[in-house]
Amino acid sequence: MLLFRNTPRTGVLQHARRARLRKRRALHLTDSFRGPSRPPMGVHGFATPMEQTYFRKGFGLKAEVKPLIDAEYHSAIVERIRARGYEDTIGDVTVRLAQEFGFCYGVDRAVDYAYETVHKFPDKKIYLVGEIIHNPHVNRRMTEMGIEFIYPAQDGAFDFGHVTGDDVVILPAFGVTIHDFNRLKEIGCILVDTTCGSVLHVWKRVEGYAKDGFTAVIHGKYQHEESRATASQALKYEGGKYLIVRDMDEAMLVCDYIAERDGHMTREEFLARFGGEKSSDGFDPDRDLLKIGVANQTTMLANESMAIGARVKEAMVERWGDDHAEEHYRTFGTICSATQERQDAVKEMMQDPPDVMLVIGGYNSSNTNHLAHMCREYTTTYHIEDAPCIDLEAGTIRHKPVLNATAPEDIETEWLPEGPFSLGITAGASTPNNKIGEALVRVLKIRGIDVEAAAGQAVARGGVEPAEA
Ligand code: SF4
Repeated sequence: MLLFRNTPRTGVLQHARRARLRKRRALHLTDSFRGPSRPPMGVHGFATPMEQTYFRKGFGLKAEVKPLIDAEYHSAIVERIRARGYEDTIGDVTVRLAQEFGFCYGVDRAVDYAYETVHKFPDKKIYLVGEIIHNPHVNRRMTEMGIEFIYPAQDGAFDFGHVTGDDVVILPAFGVTIHDFNRLKEIGCILVDTTCGSVLHVWKRVEGYAKDGFTAVIHGKYQHEESRATASQALKYEGGKYLIVRDMDEAMLVCDYIAERDGHMTREEFLARFGGEKSSDGFDPDRDLLKIGVANQTTMLANESMAIGARVKEAMVERWGDDHAEEHYRTFGTICSATQERQDAVKEMMQDPPDVMLVIGGYNSSNTNHLAHMCREYTTTYHIEDAPCIDLEAGTIRHKPVLNATAPEDIETEWLPEGPFSLGITAGASTPNNKIGEALVRVLKIRGIDVEAAAGQAVARGGVEPAEA
């Protein structure tokens, strides 16, 4: 595994860059990963006009990439605890895993496609629009494999100026806006679309709203890639409109406006609050809130999304009366099943909360933030971005203490209880098992537990990164 690390990137001349890419990818690929010979290249590489340039079902190379993915993201200690019924006592720590945690089906698929893409196009420049998923470790691995990230500007716009028709561009699991998709199609590059099926499901819903003249009110974060992409689906139809509400507080402002309740915002106040990126161009609350369809970013808090749908219904009943409200609103829960299952598992665990809860996942990961937020209501919770947030030498933990994705981290010194205690663990849908295992091993080591002696060699072998073994 150490072979695959620390490959610096530069980018000067195309020729030299490709040579380096080939070399770097060779370093990253095991023999089995090199797989079968590639089909012959056309005059423009794989992207000749007669050849397929849009892929969303992988390249049939799953078997080739599986050994590498397993080796990179697997954790023996996590599998061992899972096999023992999601609970195990190691030393004086009772470890409890949530019944559902970590990589979801959409992330599994996106990561798989990215590895397949590297294998399929060893000679091409490969870009990724934004982050493949919101996990720093996985994204770092993508960079190490030679994939170049195209990050958005502050306003969410991507600059594809340097992408050519000879390149490959991977679209992330959250999807991209219609505008960005069309721009990439115009460039003529090869597109590998890893957009999750559950996200596509929301898109269909929003598109349907727009088609039928309903404004899509999306419960989500307006700066999140998925919400931007979902909102853009409303623009497929002329006159399509959208409005993004962050939480119940914002939803209630909209409901008060719809129902014309006392103290509701004026039109100007409404536009000041929900203008810009939170709504479609030319949004007019007097015209565009008459018919509403509610949808949500797939990773929001399920309860809050459902409650928002119910409040919108109430507002419509108030405004139009029982008999006509149905003509003015539609709602459909579009939380994905993976998010729902992870939130349900945390809810179940919190019926008997552990003494300490560890939530592992990117600080910009919506679903991880929501898991941590749920746990904080019941027990001492530490949301860490990655295993090294637990400092083995100092014995401290660096964590984000609140829901806000951009909140500063805190460092705690006395964070583990004295005497035997229970440690609950969950992780966001974009957190690989090896990072969960590594975090756990760090806790055990800080606790002074000899992991190998306490849990057997298999634990230490699979749960610890080589650098720590
Ligand atoms: S969290 Fe849900 S929508 Fe997002 S990638 Fe995973 S399964 Fe798909």
